[in-house]
Amino acid sequence: MQDTIVAIATPSGVGGICIVRLSGKQAAQIASTITKKPAFTPRYATLSLLYDTQGALLDEAIVLYFQAPKSYTGEDVIEFQCHGGEIIGRRVLNECLLLGARIARAGEFTKRAYLNGRLDLAQANAIAQMITTRDASFQSALLKQLKGDLGAFVEQVRASLISALAHTEVMIDYSEEDIPSDIITRIHSMLESLATRLNNIYTFSKARPSQGHSLCLIGKPNVGKSSLLNALLLYDRAITSPIAGTTRDRIEEDLLIGSHRVRLIDTAGIHASDDSLESKGIEKSLQALKEASIILVVFDGSSPLDPQDEAIIALVQEESASRQSPPTILPIINKCDLPAMLDTAALHKLDSSSAAIAINALNKPETASTLYSAIAQALAQESYQDIILSAPYQQEAIAQTQAHIHKACAKLESLELELFAYHIKDALESIGFITHPYNSEEVLDSMFGQFCLGK
Ligand code: GDP
Repeated sequence: MQDTIVAIATPSGVGGICIVRLSGKQAAQIASTITKKPAFTPRYATLSLLYDTQGALLDEAIVLYFQAPKSYTGEDVIEFQCHGGEIIGRRVLNECLLLGARIARAGEFTKRAYLNGRLDLAQANAIAQMITTRDASFQSALLKQLKGDLGAFVEQVRASLISALAHTEVMIDYSEEDIPSDIITRIHSMLESLATRLNNIYTFSKARPSQGHSLCLIGKPNVGKSSLLNALLLYDRAITSPIAGTTRDRIEEDLLIGSHRVRLIDTAGIHASDDSLESKGIEKSLQALKEASIILVVFDGSSPLDPQDEAIIALVQEESASRQSPPTILPIINKCDLPAMLDTAALHKLDSSSAAIAINALNKPETASTLYSAIAQALAQESYQDIILSAPYQQEAIAQTQAHIHKACAKLESLELELFAYHIKDALESIGFITHPYNSEEVLDSMFGQFCLGK
């Protein structure tokens, strides 16, 4: 028999309500003792006084009873919606402990939900990540996962693999010459397109940041990167000065643009430097460039393009070409209040989907509004439309499925049908791992360990 677990499900601190959640065989009994009420009607909210074992009043709270199996965990669940604050919830929790419950481990409610078949693993993972993500678009993608999109996708893939298997198994008894070649071609092309789709999902998922996008400002010294950062934040966060090399450390701040969480990173201007401190700053700039999903490449519109600018263009091009999923690049021409001296033709070398954006970073409100809409537009193009594999174990499972399909295809070409069937069975096992892993303990422990208490 599973023991009864209890936890405070709301964050600590001062707030209107504090929820203490119980799950397990003794949950209803413990609630009866604390409230001195014989029973609760399932799914009804009951206003009730709560008492400790000495009979002293603890709180007046709403009690909710979810009878097994129709509850989050699939077991009997009681929720006490107490008054908020640090003390009350903790006292109610202590009472539950005295009456036989034990403190829940991180993610244990959801683990029980999984073990009792209320959720598949993809859904449980979506819950874990939804609680912690800071990016609203990613959260929406996770919600789709919670509603079962990923599970449905896994079923589709399984159905295709099973159909390929069924077709070839009837052929195993045929002699080679009797196998209809068009069937082989059809199965082959179906599997190839399945593998391509899996690969797209894999690449898309790997490239998507779960904690929001990171945007880096890159350019030679004095083009106005720090002024631009200040404009985007609408306050003076970074020191700006006409002296080159002022920014030596990396400065980071968060911004919400539309539904996207964007981490802004201002970096030291990139150029050849003998100053060891500045060189360290430049190293950090290069690191920020590697991490960024959006790169603002800043130029000074009031001076001609020089070798330093060209070196930066080459650097950004190189970075973009090295990635499987290239970053969004926005060329920015700053200091447009001054006479134009920059030949913008060279900026076309930057592999950017948008034209260069002209700004005057000293005019903060206008710069912020121009850039907010440019960034929002760039981010809208990459909203989460497809299935997303948010956990590393899911990405690993899909990569393995793909590899098994490729091996199976090779065996199909050489008409080694038994080996083909063997690899397809491996592919089936790998894809099933996303929702129902067979060696589950390890995956479960690592996944549910990420949860917060009370979930
Ligand atoms: P960074 O080294 O690239 O971070 O450049 P800063 O933001 O420190 O700016 C260098 C100098 O250019 C400072 O004196 C700024 O006031 C000035 N500056 C920045 N943006 C503009 C602009 O749009 N117009 C003009 N006229 N000056 C600017």
